Amino acid sequence: MVVKTEAVVLKTVKYGDTSKIITAFTREYGKLSLIAKGARTSRSKFVSILNPMSCIQAVFYLKESRDIHLLSDASLSRVHKSIVEDPKKTMTGFAMLDALNTAVHTREPHPVLFDHLVEALDVLDLAEQSPVNSLVAFLIALLREIGYGLKLDACVKCGGELDREPLAFESQFGGFVCGRCSSSETGPVVAMNQLKALRWLERPSPGAWSSLSLEPMESLKIVHLLAGHLCRHVPGARRLKSLSLLESTVVG
Ligand SMILES: [Zn+2]
Repeated sequence: MVVKTEAVVLKTVKYGDTSKIITAFTREYGKLSLIAKGARTSRSKFVSILNPMSCIQAVFYLKESRDIHLLSDASLSRVHKSIVEDPKKTMTGFAMLDALNTAVHTREPHPVLFDHLVEALDVLDLAEQSPVNSLVAFLIALLREIGYGLKLDACVKCGGELDREPLAFESQFGGFVCGRCSSSETGPVVAMNQLKALRWLERPSPGAWSSLSLEPMESLKIVHLLAGHLCRHVPGARRLKSLSLLESTVVG
């Protein structure tokens, strides 16, 4: 069956002398592998299109019995020039792809998550400050879509307001415990402004994301907290390798 769908390229590997196999997150069919024959020859129509983070319209032959499907056509559907040119934004985008690739299974459609990813890349591309905010917002949405969303409005133990420090993060219960419930047994301590940042970035209004000004170290702490939560709950997940590169680019 020939199908046409929007897709974001997550990874590419060389195959044979001239071809490429790409892992693509498609809007309609979820994550799958596509082979682009001859994609590495200079005359190929795929040259400069099939790179990680490229947003494409893909046409391919979907065969139920196969693990790798044949890509017959692809064109760029959006261009994120500033992400490509700015190393901080590039690494932030790679961390989104890494988290997504870790979180979703092959051939499991997640159209809402697909839209979140494209939206987060669009906002990252336009961001004039705090690029990591769009990664935090994406991770919040990603966790929610795969069923491990965080509870940000009340203490996960007593249901009371999260208004007193020290707040602690309890990944096991998917949220925070208030100062009244936290003890030496509870998880890592979280500053009140980090919780406020999470609440702000949970908003479904991407225009507001970049208006939140966070110190780079602060936003990285939040990213680690969310990534740790993801890896704890997704079976077989490994630590996100992209985060150390992001860290050295954003702080270094
Ligand atoms: Zn409590």
